[in-house]
Amino acid sequence: MDASELRRKQKEFLFPNVSTYYEEAVVLESGKGLTLKDVEGREYLDFFGGILTVGVGHCHPRVTEAVIAQQKKLVHVSTLYPTIPQIELAEKLNQLRPTKEPVKSFFTNSGTEANETAVQLAKVATGRTDLVALRHSYGGRGALAVNMMGNKNYRPLQSEIPGIKHAHAPYCYRCDFGLKYPDCGLACAKDIKNLIETTTTGQIAGFIAEPIMGVGGFIVPPKEYFEVAVPIVRNAGGLFIADEVQTAWGRTGEKWWGVQHFNVEPDILTSAKGMGNGQPVALTMARASVADKGVYNTISTFGGGPPSMAAALATLRVIEEEKLLFNSQMMGKALREGLQGLQERFTGIGDVRGMGLMQAIELVKDRGTKEPDAPGAARLMEATRKRGLLVGKGGLYGNTMRIAPAMVVNRSQVDDALRILGEALAEALRQ
Ligand code: PMP
Repeated sequence: MDASELRRKQKEFLFPNVSTYYEEAVVLESGKGLTLKDVEGREYLDFFGGILTVGVGHCHPRVTEAVIAQQKKLVHVSTLYPTIPQIELAEKLNQLRPTKEPVKSFFTNSGTEANETAVQLAKVATGRTDLVALRHSYGGRGALAVNMMGNKNYRPLQSEIPGIKHAHAPYCYRCDFGLKYPDCGLACAKDIKNLIETTTTGQIAGFIAEPIMGVGGFIVPPKEYFEVAVPIVRNAGGLFIADEVQTAWGRTGEKWWGVQHFNVEPDILTSAKGMGNGQPVALTMARASVADKGVYNTISTFGGGPPSMAAALATLRVIEEEKLLFNSQMMGKALREGLQGLQERFTGIGDVRGMGLMQAIELVKDRGTKEPDAPGAARLMEATRKRGLLVGKGGLYGNTMRIAPAMVVNRSQVDDALRILGEALAEALRQ
């Protein structure tokens, strides 16, 4: 079957609401490191990693071998029976934890499930139900997760789940208060107090926030944001849930967890994506004293399955042995400097932001009005693809390019990506 036949059959046999990138979807067949090949043999430099998921490169041999070995030994028993890889992983995560207090873990298969588990736990542990989430956030595709979402693009027609309040996003480039950091005094974080006092009983179950908002367009809060927000939440009896589906595993450079850049500790942390380098595996981790309050019966048929646990263990070993936290920091710095250079050349780049290997450029029609340039972003997607570079698109307005290569990326690949981006920007923005 050639690419056009596969694209035609995709339209015929798959749900039409599964959106794909590009006017003509790229049908991929194989991958190695940062290189992907499509069914027609064209090669691409992958700077999106299947949405920040292939963190140690496509088909990393250590991860692949670990999964194959586990597949031959034991594939499935369910959460009704403990297994060696599951216990080893939970013990390892306790060593890597971002909290002083030891943690306990629960494994599932997707970020959606991880977040739903976290919220259930926060409600049971506190005996309260109100939740604060962030505008511009992405929480997943379950009913609860969709209701927590702060993005119309992913909220289908469905009934509201009561008790979810949306705080202003720490989106400095488009501040809801029209203020500028640091003169703003962190107004967005302080407003959470008002939100809780005016729209809830005054007591909440928790506050769920991504340390850097991923789907929202890699929105990085001011460095003191969580130091202001989290005490407000705790004063109202709530727990802080860090949604690290995108930001964990070294993605933000230097640290294992995104939240560690913000001088706060989470009570509950969720993750998925990069955890198993592409195997479906997700984590809900909580301070032991919080996890111990989760007194309700639960089960996950596939959660914590041996092959996905083996994939996660192997991925963590690769991150440690190949010193990828450091590489993510260094290559992230090189990527960021290159993007800032492009911002000097192209007035259509309104903002450059990110941390580590999670960098974004936000395209605008005019730097003064900041009118989002979604058509420019769509053209840039085509122009990069044509030149063999894959990047992501995101943001509420569809005008933010998300650039997040696997953490094994090297300097010459960063330089290649920046060169291609420069050429593609010249074509797409007509500058
Ligand atoms: N939280 C965040 C921050 C995410 O980016 C995503 C996925 N984009 C999810 C939750 C949901 O994860 P999944 O698609 O694995 O259900």
